[in-house]
Formats: sequence, C-alpha cells, structure tokens
Amino acid sequence: MKVTEHFQNADKTQFTFEILPPLKGENLQVLYEHIDPLMEFKPPFIDVTYHREEYVYKHRDNGLLEKISTRKRPGTVGICAAIQNHYKVDTVPHLICGGFNKEETENALIDLHFLGIHNVLVLRGDCVKTESRFVPEPGGHSYATELLQQVVGMNNGCYLDDEQINTNGTDFCIGVAGYPEKHSDAPNLKADLRWLKKKIEMGADYVVTQMFFDNQKYFDFVRLCRSEGINVPIIPGLKPLTTKSQLTILPGIFHIDIPCDLADAVEACADNKAAAQVGVEWAIQQSKELMEFGVPCLHYYSMGKSGSVRKVAEALF
Ligand SMILES: Cc1cc2nc3c(=O)[nH]c(=O)nc-3n(C[C@H](O)[C@H](O)[C@H](O)COP(=O)(O)OP(=O)(O)OC[C@H]3O[C@@H](n4cnc5c(N)ncnc54)[C@H](O)[C@@H]3O)c2cc1C
Repeated sequence: MKVTEHFQNADKTQFTFEILPPLKGENLQVLYEHIDPLMEFKPPFIDVTYHREEYVYKHRDNGLLEKISTRKRPGTVGICAAIQNHYKVDTVPHLICGGFNKEETENALIDLHFLGIHNVLVLRGDCVKTESRFVPEPGGHSYATELLQQVVGMNNGCYLDDEQINTNGTDFCIGVAGYPEKHSDAPNLKADLRWLKKKIEMGADYVVTQMFFDNQKYFDFVRLCRSEGINVPIIPGLKPLTTKSQLTILPGIFHIDIPCDLADAVEACADNKAAAQVGVEWAIQQSKELMEFGVPCLHYYSMGKSGSVRKVAEALF
C-alpha cells in the first residue's frame, strides 16, 4: 500500500521509523534484530535510507594520491525487498540524486516497481564527506525537483528512451524532505519553502521533516507551509537523543537547534545511559504533544539503534 493510503485508513497517529542499511559485511539477521523489537508497535511502513559512496585518498609508492570510491552501507533496494517479504510491511526506500545518473535512477525504479515497492522518498542526498558542496553525478540530477520529475515521468509511463513508451508506467507514492529549521544551503526559510512548494506542485504526495527537538519549530513550519499553499501531510521526524556527544554532533550534521532545557538536562547527566533516558523522556513529551496536534504518524530516526525508539513507542503506542 502507499504511504498516503495508510494515512487515509488510520484513525489515530501511527508509529513509523527509519533504518539505516547495516554496514557492509553484515547480514540480514543483524537488520532483523534491529527491526524485531519495533514490530509490535505495528508500523504501517518502514523507511530505509540510502548512503552514497565516499572517497578515500591513498598514498601510493610513486608518491601520487589514488582516489578510491567506497560504499559503507550498500543495498537499499534489496533491503527494502527483504523487509517487505519478511515482515509483510510496506517499505519506503530513499532515492537520492548523489552518485546516480539518470539511467541508474531509472533502473533502480524499475527494480523497485518490479519488487512491488510502491513508495519512494525523493531526496537530493548529502554531499560527499570530502566535498563542501553537493556535486551531481555526470548525467544525474542536481536537486530533488529534477529527480522528482523523473519519478513522476515514470509514473506517467515516460522512460528515458522516449520511443519506448510503457503505457503501464510505475505507480510510486512520493515523499520529499522538509526542514522546519531551514535547509543549510537555503538563504532563508521562505526561499526554502518555495522549493518545497515546487516539489508538491510537481507531484510529491507528502513531506517528512528533518528531526527537530522543539515542537514549536514544527508548528510554525506547518502554519507557514499551509499559508504558502502546501497542503499535503507533513510528517514530523523525531530522534531520541542517545549520547551526550550528540548535543554537538546533531547540530553540526543536521543544522538544527537543541533547546536549552534539553541541552542542560543532558549536560547534567553523569553518563550516556542517563543521557539516553533524558532523550527518551523528551521524545515522549514531544510525541504526546504532536499526537494531540493530530499528526497522521510520528516518524522516528533510529539511526541503527532501536533501544530508545522502542522505549518511546512503549510509552505511546
Ligand atoms: C526525512 C529525510 C530523510 C533523508 N534521508 C537521506 C538519505 O537516505 N540519504 C541521504 O544521503 N540523505 C538523506 N537526507 C538528507 C538530505 O539528502 C539532505 O538534507 C540534502 O542536503 C537535501 O536534500 P533535499 O531532498 O531536501 O534537497 P532539495 O530539495 O534538492 O534542496 C536542497 C537545497 O536546494 C534548494 N533547492 C531545492 N530545489 C532547488 C532548485 N530546483 N533550484 C535551486 N535550489 C533548489 C533548497 O532550498 C535546499 O536549500 C534526508 C533528509 C530528510 C529530511
């Protein structure tokens, strides 16, 4: 089923989460051990992130540097198929511009369609760690809008070889990312929202937000979106803080603020166990308020560890 159909059929806020593909060399069992503890809360769908290649530079005997491309976490398409088959639950693979040319994107979408996966979260993708700005793949897309155009095109039966019209087309329900605290590249929130609106006008069905720790940021964002004519579901993304170091790591990576009350409480913790407990309690309070607001689902970023997300879900679902 499509994500939007799950929202329409639900009579209360649903529990959903995002997983990272395990590190390469791991196996499906590792993944299932991560997902198993969360399945009793009946997620209607599970998101699987996509991680593009990274570059490492090796000193060679001739004195030159060799650039080597390496992928840490392979397999989003295969993992989605495995989860869908094992748990009989829908999956939402993340599809990114980075590292893909249009042909590779089309092939991934053909595989997903064939496997009965009818949802995608369309993203630009993060930049390569060694680069300061996003660099598109030659023959690939620069922005989520361009990738979205390709997915919508395939839904309408348009493939890259325009002489070969497949009248069946694909049938993807399309999610996109939204940033209550603004995307880091955008000059301001209003400019960022113009592009978000464009994504909806082009055919995206719903928005999932970047993580936030202050619900007011989400409420303001939703109000602003509605006033700009963005009327699709806006799914809040939540992450329970799990370590003291995340107080500085998360703002650095995701360009978000940690509210003073939360930061002070985590700082005061003697160890990470205590910090994780504070993170769980904060996420429960955030979730309760968002449920009262009437969000169709709460989307938790598990970031490869299910313990804290399970504790939050136990208190709410
Ligand atoms: C819910 C969620 C899930 C994510 N999952 C992943 C994942 O699995 N893998 C991964 O690598 N990253 C993931 N990310 C991170 C995401 O890829 C980065 O935040 C990336 O920098 C931006 O992606 P986007 O789709 O929002 O980009 P875009 O919508 O393309 O926006 C990027 C920037 O360009 C601007 N912009 C947008 N369209 C245009 C245009 N046509 N012309 C000019 N400017 C434009 C926007 O205002 C913004 O500042 C995720 C983020 C979220 C919120």
